Amino acid sequence: MSAPRTVTLATVDHGDVTVPEPAWCTGHADHLPGHRADILHKGADLTLAFRSGEILTAGLAQSPYATSSDPETGGPTVGVSVYPPGRTLTPTGLYDLAADLDSYADRLRDLADQLTAILAGVAE
Ligand SMILES: [Zn+2]
Repeated sequence: MSAPRTVTLATVDHGDVTVPEPAWCTGHADHLPGHRADILHKGADLTLAFRSGEILTAGLAQSPYATSSDPETGGPTVGVSVYPPGRTLTPTGLYDLAADLDSYADRLRDLADQLTAILAGVAE
């Protein structure tokens, strides 16, 4: 068995900090020394875009040294960061978001049906 992967990051308050590096983390190539509490593991972004406009982005995130008591603002427990609204969701929250997106897609199709009828002169 191989040793767990680690990464060493410079901080302004704790010097070089070595932390386990999750397999899903995309790395820290753009790391700038900051506070240890701000160390963030981030996974690949899953982006919903339409006609080059970004609508929604989600990705795994974990701040191993964060002390936030509100898990939706990120913390030591792995979550999925969603922007907008800039919250970190649990699996339950993500399923709720997916259900809302399903419902929204249905309403968009209904709106398209209504527009089609209006343009065809079948409705006002
Ligand atoms: Zn990482």
